[in-house]
Amino acid sequence: MINVYQPSLGKEELNRIEKVFESNWIGKGKLVNEFEEKYAAMLGTDTKHVISTNCCTEGLFSSMHLLDVKPEDEVILPTISFVGAANSICANGSKMVLCDVDPRTLNVRAEDIEKVITKKTKAILLLHFGGIPCEMDDIMDLANSHGIKVIEDCAAGVCSSYKGRALGTIGDMGMWSFDAMKILVCGDGAMLYFKDEEVRNRAEKWLYFGLETKSGYENSVAQKWWEFNISCYGHRAIMNDVAAAMALAQFEKLPLFMEKRKAVNDYYNDNLKEISWLELPPVLPENVKSSYYFYHIQIKNGKRDELATYLRQNGIYTTYRYFPIHRVKGYNVSGEFPNADYATDNTLCLPIHQSLSDSDMELVVNKIIEFGKQYC
Ligand SMILES: *Cc1c(COP(=O)(O)O)cnc(C)c1O
Repeated sequence: MINVYQPSLGKEELNRIEKVFESNWIGKGKLVNEFEEKYAAMLGTDTKHVISTNCCTEGLFSSMHLLDVKPEDEVILPTISFVGAANSICANGSKMVLCDVDPRTLNVRAEDIEKVITKKTKAILLLHFGGIPCEMDDIMDLANSHGIKVIEDCAAGVCSSYKGRALGTIGDMGMWSFDAMKILVCGDGAMLYFKDEEVRNRAEKWLYFGLETKSGYENSVAQKWWEFNISCYGHRAIMNDVAAAMALAQFEKLPLFMEKRKAVNDYYNDNLKEISWLELPPVLPENVKSSYYFYHIQIKNGKRDELATYLRQNGIYTTYRYFPIHRVKGYNVSGEFPNADYATDNTLCLPIHQSLSDSDMELVVNKIIEFGKQYC
């Protein structure tokens, strides 16, 4: 079976993990710090604005607390969002206000957000679909004019950028995931960005019991070094040096990963463009960069499900992301989201990862063409 997503791991990661074993320190330590520093530098910032955590969902949940979102507040969420994003708003007791998206990019637009802004809107939690940047200038203008916080779910947008700025560093808070299905993987882990240094410092405590760490040195010479204080009832959500060792090895491979993903993207573009019943992913503007996390096609003749089944029967796994929140019963929301509905019923994500071989890509293209000849 050709996987839709797949990690690329090898000796480099193993070697680094071996050194962690030898060091006898597997918890949060020097390697986590090193990874935070390198990642922050890639974002064009420093560790005054960045901190790691154990997963991106923790970042989503923490965003509510750290940006002071209260139960009486409303948070706008594009209905095409990750399940954890919706959960973070609802678990906070706040009102989740869904909005529609662009039917082709599946990204939220300023015009979609504007329609659902009220006096109670505190924040917009947006998703950069598959690492494709949202139109951030429009969104930031709108958010600033209404005093609304912007949270960027940039989980799959490692290396994505918008007009020269790293995606995820444009709003008040951004986050990237390193879970097993992403591009840079380390088992589990995530990075958080905060525009405001003070919020970053609160995050550091929030992610580790709310412990007051200021007196670290004093503590070490204190009479009773086991005493401590807390500043809030914080979580325990940190990365460790085993994960960071993998992450550091993966970090060095990122340029290669991006090259490979772009090559897969371009191959599909070149070889699928003649197919009349297919809509290829939208062409990106010159001044933005995608991480090419998804290659999403849209099937114009209503035969998406048949195509997915046909490909699966031929050893090619595809999927659709993200199933819209308004169609998940458990959230109990209603409303009209015609673009999201169109996208959900007609979009398919094709296999794209760094280990895809030429023959894999050819097979995907050939099977799609074959399907067309038989059924379209
Ligand atoms: C994977 C993903 C997350 C969650 O990341 P974890 O690190 O697994 O918690 C959040 N948002 C999006 C869009 C994702 O794809």
